[in-house]
Amino acid sequence: MAEGKNDQTSAATRLAQALHYVHPVHGAVVPGIEPASTFARDGEYAPMDGKLYGRDGSPTTDQAEKILNSVEGGAGAMLFTSGMSAIVALFETLKAGDHIAAPVVMYHGTATWLNRMAEMRGIEATFFDSTQEGALEAALRPGQTRMLWIESPTNPNWDVIDIAAATDAAHAAGALLIADCTVTPPVTTKALSFGADIVFHSATKYLNGHSDITAGALITREAGPLWDDIRAVRVLQGTALPAFESWLLIRGMRTLALRFERCSSNAMAIAQHFEGHPRIAAVLYPGLDSHPGHAIASKQMRAGYGGMLSLLAAGGEDHARRIATRCKVFLPATSLGGVESLIEHRIAVEGPHSVVAPNLLRLSVGIEDVADLIADLEQALA
Ligand SMILES: *Cc1c(COP(=O)(O)O)cnc(C)c1O
Repeated sequence: MAEGKNDQTSAATRLAQALHYVHPVHGAVVPGIEPASTFARDGEYAPMDGKLYGRDGSPTTDQAEKILNSVEGGAGAMLFTSGMSAIVALFETLKAGDHIAAPVVMYHGTATWLNRMAEMRGIEATFFDSTQEGALEAALRPGQTRMLWIESPTNPNWDVIDIAAATDAAHAAGALLIADCTVTPPVTTKALSFGADIVFHSATKYLNGHSDITAGALITREAGPLWDDIRAVRVLQGTALPAFESWLLIRGMRTLALRFERCSSNAMAIAQHFEGHPRIAAVLYPGLDSHPGHAIASKQMRAGYGGMLSLLAAGGEDHARRIATRCKVFLPATSLGGVESLIEHRIAVEGPHSVVAPNLLRLSVGIEDVADLIADLEQALA
């Protein structure tokens, strides 16, 4: 594999070629799938490629990690069996008495885990309103806060947090900045370049893009003791992404740039079409000039604003549920970032503790013909 040879090429090129992959023996241009659960040692009884056992991750996992690390510009990447297992491994490195700050409106699974840690392990969490000036800074406790977790834009209101400013605030308090970039893959946002210490992705979403695996990723700016500790947790928990899923992820990432471009242009067309629509109270999409976070989004999202947007139904909660069930092209399912468009009545998915508006419909816009998508929403609204 000619890794390093193509460091000057763009992310789109490196992804399409899986880092100019060529098998060193027979020249295959696609890596194989290596599912072995144990690895033989060499003549000196040393591991042949750092691998001893299946819980360390497979050679196919390594391959997928190299690609992701290269396009994020990191010092290392690790893949997990799901986004949540990556999050759990990262948070497992915190001790009782440590503090973590995160936005009120964020991925509900992460918030659920933070609350669980607060209850079970004595790790304190503060949730701040990211739309309130100064709230992020006020949530930090210098010397005690170990991590500031952000999403930008935040799911599912798509409020924009300035990654560089959040990093400065975190570092001033002695904390690390962790950026959940699930909805902003590295073809549009490289959070490490804005100062983030660790980037997280639910690779289930845009990175893979075909709704056929669950996977999580962490990419680090520095390969120090914290990174080693996260790897130790992954080995002990057995949550490295297995070979077949890693292989699917490599295949999915080849088309990431193209998919993201199309999702972004489709979502922009839908947002513009429904802004001011009589049956829609508001369109939440950072790509719109009218969005309060548009200027920062434009700085951080270099190749499109992505396929995620939310619509607030003018007729309230029942109206929102009716729209979701009347769609014939959008599929009524959770998740995001796939080639197929999804619509969900978010509060029904998050349950009674949700902080999401009851009339909010979250759309994950795919790569279909945008005229079909707009016509589908129009007939559902009619
Ligand atoms: C889906 C998602 C996660 C969790 O990832 P899984 O792969 O579902 O475990 C975390 N953050 C965001 C923003 C997500 O959309």
